[in-house]
Amino acid sequence: MRDLTQEIIELIRRTSSSLPPDVEKRLRESIEKEEPGSAARGALETIMKNIELSRANSTPICQDTGTPIFQVHYPVGWSTIQLKKQIRAALEEATKKSFMRPNAVDAIYDRNTGNNLGGDDFPYIHFEETEGEDLVIELMLKGGGCENVGRQYSLPDNSLGAGRDLAGVRKVVLDAVQKAQGQGCAPGILGVSIGGDRGSSYIKSKEVLFSEMGTRNKDPNLAELEERLTKESNEMGIGPMGFGGKTTVLDTKITGLSRLPASYFVSVSYMCWAYRRRKMTVKGEEVIYD
Ligand code: SF4
Repeated sequence: MRDLTQEIIELIRRTSSSLPPDVEKRLRESIEKEEPGSAARGALETIMKNIELSRANSTPICQDTGTPIFQVHYPVGWSTIQLKKQIRAALEEATKKSFMRPNAVDAIYDRNTGNNLGGDDFPYIHFEETEGEDLVIELMLKGGGCENVGRQYSLPDNSLGAGRDLAGVRKVVLDAVQKAQGQGCAPGILGVSIGGDRGSSYIKSKEVLFSEMGTRNKDPNLAELEERLTKESNEMGIGPMGFGGKTTVLDTKITGLSRLPASYFVSVSYMCWAYRRRKMTVKGEEVIYD
């Protein structure tokens, strides 16, 4: 099987040092919405300068290079054992090259492994066999600060007056944004999952963040709720980094799952402005990066 270690190192370098164009565009547009001379505008301008410098110098956009989350869509015939070895080797090498900070800390003995590799759980890799011929590897780097402000709700939630319907979902998602304030490094992007069990609900709330900015759910009710949540979050006045202003959330993405009759979970994964998400596609001999 082909060795893609070098190509995956390049995927990691790009993801860590260069934000995707759709994210950068949305951040640029946000600057114009903030008052000239305001702290909010200043914070966004600093973010933009940081983005440009990181890209020019191939240095991490943020000192926290986050949890590496890989999604691998592989055609029949590829070995997931080999792909996993290559991903782990690439991550170790990318860390040596300082594209990544050593981020894997053994939670029991409080020891940093120094090479960004933990047990089977770090990096997180999800494999999905596909019917197509291309191998696609997606990578998202999810920062710790924004991970800390993610929340899960079990509806009904009487303290928030949130029932088991989309009106209840709206209430708890807005509660999550309100409680996060600027702590998740706003402006953020909300990944929301409705249903599932506690585990699948959180996983899917992150998976939905792999889609491009502005991608709307095919269900018109969920698409409408996505738009509404972004608008109402921005009316809270929390603003970039919590400095106040009109830009608290850049986008909201919702996914609906099946649930048990007894449960109704809503999970909110908050992604910070450093929305590092990239993809490589292996088409025959060619490797294309997006
Ligand atoms: S939450 Fe995001 S922007 Fe903030 S420190 Fe962590 S990675 Fe950096």
